[in-house]
Amino acid sequence: MKMEKIWHPLERLADGAVMLEWEQGLGKELDQVRRYLRLSNDPAKTFPCTNPLGCGFPHRVEKYGKGRWVAVCDEEDNCPGILLDGKDLLVYEVDRKALCAGIAHALKLEPPAARKSTHARAELAGTHGPGRHEVYLMFPADHARMAREVERLFGPHPAPFILMTPSGEHCTAEVESAATAIPTVVTAASASGVCWWVGVL
Ligand SMILES: [Zn+2]
Repeated sequence: MKMEKIWHPLERLADGAVMLEWEQGLGKELDQVRRYLRLSNDPAKTFPCTNPLGCGFPHRVEKYGKGRWVAVCDEEDNCPGILLDGKDLLVYEVDRKALCAGIAHALKLEPPAARKSTHARAELAGTHGPGRHEVYLMFPADHARMAREVERLFGPHPAPFILMTPSGEHCTAEVESAATAIPTVVTAASASGVCWWVGVL
C-alpha cells in the first residue's frame, strides 16, 4: 500500500463522496481502503463532471424519470448532462471507528479504556506506551477549523496525548501556535504524512 497516495484523498473525501470520486482519488489503493468506508444515508446532490473536456465543476443532480437521474452543469452552457442511476449516487464516508481500530492495530495501541466525549471532532483511537498516553485521530476540514479544534481538545485536557491527522496539510503555523499556547503541549512533529502533536508535561 502506498501510504502517501491514501491519506490526502482520505482526508479530502472523509465526510462523503460518490464511489467515482473515491476511485479517482485513490486509484488502485481503493481496495485497501474500502473496509474503512461506509454508506452514508443521503444520496449525492452533485456529481463530478465526467465529460471529456468538460467544465471541471461538480454537476447538480436532478431526477430524470424512474430510477434515473441527470447531473446538469450550472457553470457552462455547452457541458452536457450526465445520466446516472441510483448506484452512481451512493455516498461513502470514512468509517472513523473502523479506521481508528485499523490504526490502533497497526500502531499496536492499547484499546481506549472507555469512549468519552472530547467536545472536538477527534476520535480516541487508543493509548500508547507505558504512560498510556491517549492517541486521537482528527479530520480537520481546514487549518482555521483545526486550530479551533486543537484548542477545544487541548484546552480541558490535563494529560499528555498524541494527535494524528491524515495528511498533516492543515497543520499550519496557526495550528502550531494554538497547540503551543497550551503549556502542556510543546512538541510538534510530522512523519510519514501523519501529523503528530505530542503533549509533554
Ligand atoms: Zn461539466
